[in-house]
Amino acid sequence: MRDGQEHQAGDDIAEAPPEPAPAPPAPPVPSAGWGHLIPDTVFAAAVAALPVGVIVQDGQGVVLANDAACDLLELSHAQLRNLSPPVSGWQLAHGDGHLLALENAPGTLAMTTGRVQEDAPVVLRTPDGRKRWLDITAVPLRRSDGQPHAAVSSLTDVTTIRAREAALRRSEEQFRLAMDHTPIGFALIDLDGRFVRVNRALCRLIGYHADDLRDRTLQDLAHPDDVAELAHQVRRMLRGERDSVELEKRYLRCGTETMWGLLSIALVRDDNGAPLYLIVQIQDITDSRRTHDLLTHLALHDPLTGLPNRTLVLDRIQKALDRGRRAGRNVAVLFCDLDNFKVVNDSMGHELGDAVLVEVSRRLTRALRSGDTAGRLGGDEFVVVCEDVGDEREAIIVAERMQTAVGAPATVAGRVVVPTMSIGIAVSASPDIDPLTLLRDADTAMYRAKDHGRDRWDIVDVALRRRAMDRMDIEHSLREGLESEQFLLHYQPIVDLRTNRVVGREALLRWQHPERGLLPPDQFLRVAEESGLIGEIGRWVLEQAAVTAAAAGGDSGYVAVNVSPHQVARPGLAEAVEQAMGRSGLPADRLVVELTESVMLSAAPAARRELERLDELGVRIVVDDFGTGFSALSYLRDLPVSGIKVDRSFTAGLGTDHQCERIVEALTGLGRGLAVDVVVEGVETDLQRALLSTIGCEHAQGYLFGRPVPEFG
Ligand code: C2E
Ligand code: MG
Ligand code: MG
Repeated sequence: MRDGQEHQAGDDIAEAPPEPAPAPPAPPVPSAGWGHLIPDTVFAAAVAALPVGVIVQDGQGVVLANDAACDLLELSHAQLRNLSPPVSGWQLAHGDGHLLALENAPGTLAMTTGRVQEDAPVVLRTPDGRKRWLDITAVPLRRSDGQPHAAVSSLTDVTTIRAREAALRRSEEQFRLAMDHTPIGFALIDLDGRFVRVNRALCRLIGYHADDLRDRTLQDLAHPDDVAELAHQVRRMLRGERDSVELEKRYLRCGTETMWGLLSIALVRDDNGAPLYLIVQIQDITDSRRTHDLLTHLALHDPLTGLPNRTLVLDRIQKALDRGRRAGRNVAVLFCDLDNFKVVNDSMGHELGDAVLVEVSRRLTRALRSGDTAGRLGGDEFVVVCEDVGDEREAIIVAERMQTAVGAPATVAGRVVVPTMSIGIAVSASPDIDPLTLLRDADTAMYRAKDHGRDRWDIVDVALRRRAMDRMDIEHSLREGLESEQFLLHYQPIVDLRTNRVVGREALLRWQHPERGLLPPDQFLRVAEESGLIGEIGRWVLEQAAVTAAAAGGDSGYVAVNVSPHQVARPGLAEAVEQAMGRSGLPADRLVVELTESVMLSAAPAARRELERLDELGVRIVVDDFGTGFSALSYLRDLPVSGIKVDRSFTAGLGTDHQCERIVEALTGLGRGLAVDVVVEGVETDLQRALLSTIGCEHAQGYLFGRPVPEFG
């Protein structure tokens, strides 16, 4: 645009106005036909009113501009015609920001080159610093000789469109940046599962370069075990069952290393709802998954042996029962308890004890059939769960195999140990039995196995289950018995074999049960122990024995009171003894406390102090059932023991079993050597008595000298 004379709209413009149309046929070019319909003035008015800017220019400059053009260029008609010198601060620029000289403006170019300038992007900078984007199309106007001599330009304001496009570009760029920098793997996948676009994180996670992924599918990266599940989920989405899914799945890094990913897959649809592609996000959760697995493992396994713990064992029993239900097979639970483990632990040290447990767990595991489980419940209690068992005979075979496997001598930390175990067997009679009941039944059977001696098995039966129920009844009525004074003591004499004189009496507990009659201790003591009621019962025994003995007078000898492991394990024994003596007036030298060998072996420091306190009081401590425990005799030296009572199982063999004689002789000699009193229990025959005298045994107790009776003396 150049300086030029002013033209009015409708003025002579460069292109000659169309001739009035000749008579039909009309020329085929429509534009050529308008002139005869619309007078020039109307046409000019229409152009003037157009919302699109229109500028006509010739070699002299702008000759015609409508209002819209002025508005768009923010110039008045006069300014538009007199752009040289330009309005200060008013500039045109190319789309790329470079200044656009007026002689290169689209209209001028169209005029000078004779070529249409189509959609040229032009930026207008206004004096107040604003920018406006214009799309300008300029068409050359030619003279009749074909030479361009003018141009008409149309101007459209595309500022809003441009701004929108720029915003879109910016957000796309931001999105791309975010994609590339997010630690979450991201992929765009076509409906065949092929990668269309991936971000860096994804490449990092799966260990492939983006180029390597071009020919691969999502399924190619999945762990072989998860491919089917993944394909299934994708198919469900394509079928329209769901639009997104979240899965924790394994995938292969570099095609080999198994990793865990949290996959979020979302389906993107077009406007008509047809699936377009899938957006997949993968988050590496390998670490948290491993931690989770580790925690789960720790929560479900015994830390020492690595075997399943109680919780997992119960779960395995349940699963085995479920499978058994379908297959019509039984489940057997073997409750295994090591024999005398406590003694091993206490006498040889906990480290060695632990090593024995680990060895046992290994042996159990090795002897398992496939599909069976070995677990550890704690302490020396193990469990074997056998699936797919026909009847109890099969379970017994397994139990015996376990016993053989475990029972071989083992060298642990340089010491030879022969671990034996007692096993209780429970076979699911019905698949509806609950795991806990099965385990309890096996536990009960194990106790019965122990009762019959070590290294045995026993099997649960109806009677056994009844007995378990009875235990609960017993516990209940024990409390009642204590409240309504149903307990009493019987006294059995202990004699001096040389003089036949009674030196003392052992107080033996009896329970006058309202329905079941007079009960000996083996019918209720264990329940009393396990329920803790023995504490109260024990205190009553001490008081009662002391009162009775005190009343009987000094000539009737001492009274021996049995004290249970429970009483020793808790504080207060010495105090209870002191109180009993105080109240009854019984002198300390007339009171003996009987403790079993295992109690002595496992005596914790606090218990030792109680025993020392008893010794200080002048009360004698005697080891009961001597010879039946683990003969680690060190406690005889370490603890204040004044006597031992040789168990009656040895006495029973006197006269018939030569070995028993040897043992009794050895034990008597041992007592003599350690200067402790020896009492041999369970003497029933004259022969036994005679043999004991020959051996040189001083004191004895047994039916031969008197059964336990209510009277003291
Ligand atoms: P223990 O202390 O070894 O008591 C000796 C047991 O042998 C008594 O059984 C007694 O009746 C029995 N006995 C005595 N002489 C003979 C005999 O010649 N032949 C046979 N076959 N047995 C004989 P009892 O009274 O049934 O007591 C059993 C166990 O119960 C006792 O064994 C003792 O460990 C425990 N016990 C008894 N009274 C109490 C008590 O008050 N408190 C505690 N904690 N335990 C007690
Ligand atoms: Mg006793
Ligand atoms: Mg005894």
